Amino acid sequence: MKRYVSVILVMGLLLSGCSKEKKEDKEAPVLTLKEKRIQVELNSKVDYQSFIEKAMDEVDGELISVVKYNEIDTSQIGQQEITYTLKDKAGNETKQTMIVDVVKYFKNKIFSPTQVKPEIVKNPEDITVLVNKVHQLPQDWEPNDLEPIIDSKFRYLRKEANAAFTKFYKAAKAKGIEIYSVSAYRSYQKQKINWENQVKVFGEEYASLYSAYPGRSEHQLGLAIDISYKNQGDNLTEKVASSDIGKFIESDAYKYGFILRYPKDKVSITNYGYEPWHIRYVGVDLAKKLHKQGITLEEYYKEA
Ligand SMILES: [Zn+2]
Repeated sequence: MKRYVSVILVMGLLLSGCSKEKKEDKEAPVLTLKEKRIQVELNSKVDYQSFIEKAMDEVDGELISVVKYNEIDTSQIGQQEITYTLKDKAGNETKQTMIVDVVKYFKNKIFSPTQVKPEIVKNPEDITVLVNKVHQLPQDWEPNDLEPIIDSKFRYLRKEANAAFTKFYKAAKAKGIEIYSVSAYRSYQKQKINWENQVKVFGEEYASLYSAYPGRSEHQLGLAIDISYKNQGDNLTEKVASSDIGKFIESDAYKYGFILRYPKDKVSITNYGYEPWHIRYVGVDLAKKLHKQGITLEEYYKEA
């Protein structure tokens, strides 16, 4: 019996000696996703693995095939979550969650804002803030530094955006281009009237293409302005794109801190129709960056 115990002791010492030579894996594996939030079509199949950006462990190496996730039910419109879990061989675990909005698309992959529960933005006064169909301003938020713009006493922009717009306006004028402002700051209440009127007159599909749901408009930020040319009147159409103003927006707006917010080739990313008249102030640094890379604000925040 005594001998038996001592054999076990020796074996135990040998084993613990061995494991000390091995590198101990105490660090959790790295798991990152390509998106924080996505929209998928009602009744569609989800390619779960395609959203994994990186699944890697210091000791075990590449682990994409090991990542576990829950499946979602795409037969119901509404918000769901996919939680991705990665465990390494030593039992360390990392979890990541992605929000999924199951929506019914109109043509062009546009969806109605009424189908999604938006995230409330925490930094509404930040000039680079993202406001869109899934990012909403706090109820009744309004900027406190609105000023009347250069060509109208009845339209307003925030101080910094207004200074930039004045420069842009004068630069256009120096080239013989007369900018005609159509709409700038809009309050939550004004936007509510606009949205409801668009739905009533043109239907929800058209409203979802060109009008924002109350609380989800960049016009409420006091950083967006719709501009056209004089003989166009208030009628904002794609004709703006081929006008001198449309061309000047494309070539020069970024130099003043403005971006063309809803480009023609980004409809499925911005979830708005092409609006060659709507420019958004984001500051010169960010505008230059977005212009150079040819990306939208949505793509910028995905990469940031
Ligand atoms: Zn607009």
